[in-house]
Amino acid sequence: MAIAVKQFDAVVVGGGGAGLRAALQLSAAGLNVAVISKVFPTRSHTVAAQGGIAAALGNVGEDKWLWHMYDTIKGSDYLGDQDAIEFMCRTAAESVYELEHFGMPFDRMDNGRIYQRPFGGMTQNFGESPVSRTCAAADRTGHAMLHTLYQRNVQANTQFFIEWLALDLVCDADGDVLGVTAMDMETGEVTLLHSKTTLFATGGGGRIFQASTNAYINTGDGLGMAARAGLPLQDMEFWQFHPTGVAGVGVLISEGVRGEGGYLLNSEGERFMERYAPKARDLASRDVVSRAVATEIKEGRGVGPDKDAILLKLDHLDPETIKTKLPGIREIALNFANVDPIHEPIPIVPTAHYMMGGIPTNLDGQVCRNANNDVVQGFYAVGECACVSVHGANRLGSNSLLDLMVFGRAAGNHMVDYVRKNPTHKPLPADAGEQTLARLARLDAQKGGESVAEVGTAMRKTMSAHCGVFRFPDLLKDGVTRIQEVAERVKSTEIKDKSKTFNTARVEALELDNLIELAMATMVAAEARQESRGAHCREDFPARDDAQWLKHSLYFREGQQLDYKPVRLKPLSVEPFPLKPRIY
Ligand SMILES: Cc1cc2nc3c(=O)[nH]c(=O)nc-3n(C[C@H](O)[C@H](O)[C@H](O)COP(=O)(O)OP(=O)(O)OC[C@H]3O[C@@H](n4cnc5c(N)ncnc54)[C@H](O)[C@@H]3O)c2cc1C
Repeated sequence: MAIAVKQFDAVVVGGGGAGLRAALQLSAAGLNVAVISKVFPTRSHTVAAQGGIAAALGNVGEDKWLWHMYDTIKGSDYLGDQDAIEFMCRTAAESVYELEHFGMPFDRMDNGRIYQRPFGGMTQNFGESPVSRTCAAADRTGHAMLHTLYQRNVQANTQFFIEWLALDLVCDADGDVLGVTAMDMETGEVTLLHSKTTLFATGGGGRIFQASTNAYINTGDGLGMAARAGLPLQDMEFWQFHPTGVAGVGVLISEGVRGEGGYLLNSEGERFMERYAPKARDLASRDVVSRAVATEIKEGRGVGPDKDAILLKLDHLDPETIKTKLPGIREIALNFANVDPIHEPIPIVPTAHYMMGGIPTNLDGQVCRNANNDVVQGFYAVGECACVSVHGANRLGSNSLLDLMVFGRAAGNHMVDYVRKNPTHKPLPADAGEQTLARLARLDAQKGGESVAEVGTAMRKTMSAHCGVFRFPDLLKDGVTRIQEVAERVKSTEIKDKSKTFNTARVEALELDNLIELAMATMVAAEARQESRGAHCREDFPARDDAQWLKHSLYFREGQQLDYKPVRLKPLSVEPFPLKPRIY
C-alpha cells in the first residue's frame, strides 16, 4: 500500500509547552512548520501544571541564577549535567520575561511585579533559607502558559494537524531522521510527514504506573518511537513520585500548597517532616518528602480506614489566600476528596508524577545516539520526553515548565540554522513507512488475543508493585521477568473494533506499544543501578555511590542492553559545584 506524503521544513510532534515554544521559533523564522498533536494543543498535559515556573527574578527578596543552579544540581542528586543546568538557570529570567511579553497573565504583587512563591528545594545563598522563586498564575500556571503560546502560534501561522497520532520515526540507511508516519484519527488514514527536521515534544509517560497525576494521554509515545528506531533512552530508572496526590484518586495537589504555608501531618497530629528534613521541612525536595510520607504510612502512622494516607493541612491559612492563590486546588479537594481545605486537611499519598529520563539530547535539543553523544542528523527532542539532563535523579518543582521554554527555544533556533544549511529534503528510502503499515496490519488481522485494557492493567500493576517509591532487590529482579512477559502479551493484543473513524481502541493499542517500551527500560535500568540516588531508592544499596554510579544509563531496546555515559560536571562559565552529601 502506498502512503501519502506531505513535505515540511520542520515537523513538531506535540503541542504542549515544549512543542509550541519550539514551533513559535520556527514559524517566526518563516519555516514551513507542522505541529501534530493527538489532542487539541491546549489539552496537552502542560495545561494541568499548577504551581509555576522557576526563575531567579528576585521579586520577593534577593535571588541569583547561581543559587538556582546550585539548588537544581543538589536537587538532581548530582546526576544532572552542570553545563545544561547552568544554561537553563542563566536563561530562566529571560524566558519568563519573554512569556510575559507574549501576554502570559502572571499574578502580580502590589508593586506590579510578577508574583513568586516558595517551592521545594529552592533556596537563597546555597541552601541557607527558602526563597520565593516560582512565578505563578494562581494555581493554573500551565493553563496560562499553554494558551498564550497557542495564540502566539496561531498568529505566526503555524500549521496544526490536530488529533493526528504519530506512529513511527522514518529513518534512512545512515540513521538520519526524515520525518514520521502519523494517523489522522478522524479517518484512520496514514500519512508520511517528510521533513528536513523533526522534533519530538511528546511529553511524559506516567501512565506506566497504576496511580499517576498524569493525563491518560501521557503514554510516552516519543520514547516508544525512538526506542523502536534503535535509539537509546536515558536514565529511565528515575521517576518522580509527587508526595501529594489525592488519596485513592491520584489527582495532583500542587507543591504550591506547601509553598503558601500548608504542611503535612500524620495520624498522631505530628508535623513529621521536621524529623526527616529539619531545615527545609515540608519544602524539602520531592523524593525526600515522598519517602517520608511512605515511611510514616509503612510504620502505621497513616490516616483513613486503611491507614494508608497522610494529611495535608492548610485550614490555618487565611481563606482569602486559598481562594485567590489556590482556587483550583480547593476545587480538586472538594471534587475528589470531598473536603473543603478551608476547614479540613486533604488526605494525600505519593503518586507517580514525572519522568526524569527520556530521549538523550545535547543543549541544542539534538538527539544523541550513543554514549559518545554522536547526534542524529535532523532529529530533536525537548520537554518531558527528552533528557538533556537538567533534572538528573530528581526534578525540582517548577523546573519543568522552565525546561520546556529554555530548550524549546534553543532547539527551535538550531533547527532554523540546520534547515538553512540543509535546504533540501533527504530522499526517502524505498521501505519508508512499512514498519507502521505492518503494525496496523497486525492489529487488523489479529483474532483471539487479549484485550489492550487487560494487558495494560497487568503492566501498570507490575510497575507499581515492583518499581515504586522504595525498591527491593527481589522485587526488581522478578519485575524484569514479569514485565518481559507482559511485553510478549502486548505483541498479540486484539481489538474487536476494526473501524477506521475515530477508533479509540486502535489508538490505545498503538499507545500500549509505546508504554511497554518505557516500562521495560525503567525496570531493566532500575534493577541494574545498585545505589540510591534521588528518586531511585534501593533497600539493599541505601547510599549514593559516586565511585561506581555517577553516570547516566542508556537503555537500548535491542537485547535490552544498557550502556553508560559520564555526567558532565563542568559548567559552561562558572566553577563546578563539588559533590556533597544531600541534606535538607
Ligand atoms: C498535574 C501536573 C502538574 C504539574 N505542575 C507543574 C508545575 O507547576 N511546574 C512545572 O514546572 N511542572 C509541572 N508539571 C510537569 C510539567 O507540567 C510537564 O513536565 C510539562 O508540562 C510537559 O510538557 P511537554 O510539552 O513536554 O509535554 P505535554 O504538555 O505533555 O504535551 C505533549 C504533547 O504531545 C502530543 N503527543 C504525544 N504523543 C503523541 C503522538 N503519538 N502523536 C501526536 N501527538 C502526540 C500531545 O498531544 C501533546 O500535545 C506538572 C505535571 C502534572 C502532570
